[in-house]
Formats: sequence, structure tokens, C-alpha cells
Amino acid sequence: MFIIILITLRASGKRGIKQLSIFELVLIIGLGSAAGDPMFYEDVGLLSAITVFLVIILLYIGITKLTDKFTWLERLLEGKATYLLRDGEIILDAFKNSSLSRDDFFAELRLLNVEHLGQVQTVLIETSGEFSVLYFSEEKVRPGLTIFPHMLESQLTDNSTVACYNCGRLCSVPAGEQSCVICECDTWVIPMETKRQS
Ligand SMILES: [Zn+2]
Repeated sequence: MFIIILITLRASGKRGIKQLSIFELVLIIGLGSAAGDPMFYEDVGLLSAITVFLVIILLYIGITKLTDKFTWLERLLEGKATYLLRDGEIILDAFKNSSLSRDDFFAELRLLNVEHLGQVQTVLIETSGEFSVLYFSEEKVRPGLTIFPHMLESQLTDNSTVACYNCGRLCSVPAGEQSCVICECDTWVIPMETKRQS
């Protein structure tokens, strides 16, 4: 059974399982449950499991071919990539109907050596759950909201450029005077301007 699972997964054409889309997860669960019975019960033969495996893998390959051809089917089965950030500002709508929180998003960026939002131009979350990040080149880095918690507590000075704590929008109003026009948050923090360290 172990060897059959190996052969089947190789035949599926996937090179690894770093991140699975929902569709691929269904494939793995399907294979797993079919593999379980012959391993547990003496009276379940290998042949029935192999038949199930063949059917599942043929379905997988067939549907993959179809999703390559029809974008609407791919969206239906796997969802679509979503913008989380553009030009240093967080797209708040992307978080509303998602299990992803702003803190998860910041944690993911920190792992990619990002210090503040002014270092990144665009962030997309792919259907596999992975992040695609487009960085600003060194000379184009601008002030941006820090994503390190301890830096958010820095004290504001009057009339400095400030970043909205919630969405990252930059603004030159003194702290506490008005709320953000995009998200109505009224907490402002000092943006950072450091270049990205690789
Ligand atoms: Zn805001």
C-alpha cells in the first residue's frame, strides 16, 4: 500500500506538497482514506484500493487539464489570488471575508525580512496560501507603517508624517486630530523609512 501511494503521488505530477490548494487537499484526503482500509483490514484486498486510486488520480489529472483550459472552473475549485497590499496601503476588504488576520499577514511579511510597509509595493495571497511579494527597489523605499509590534509604540511628535495604524495610509496631520479617511482609525504611528536588508 505504501509503495502504491508513492507511485500514485508521483503520477499526479506534483513535485512536492509545500502548500496544497483546497482541490489538492481533497485529492490527498481521498487517497488517504482509500489507502487506510487495506492497511487495517485483512479482508480488504489491494485490488479495490488500486481501483480507487486509479479513479481518483484520473479525476485529478482530468480536472487539472480542465482548469488549465477554463479559468472560471479554476476559480470555482481553487479560488483566486487576492491583493492584500498595494503601494504601502493594506487592502482592508481582502481581510473581511477571509480567515487571514492582519497579524498573520504582518507575521508572514516579517519572515520575508520586511520591516515596514514602505518597502513593499504589492502583496498577493495565492490560492495555495503562499504570499507573492513585489518589493520597492532600494531608492524607491518610502516611509511606511512598521510591522514589528514594539515599534508601533513609538511616541509621535507634532506635525510629523504619520501612518495609519490600521491600514498603513500615510498622512501629514498631527496625531490625534482626525481619523483616517479610509478606515476611520484614529491611531497614528511614526512610519519607518529604513531600506530592506537582504
Ligand atoms: Zn487607515
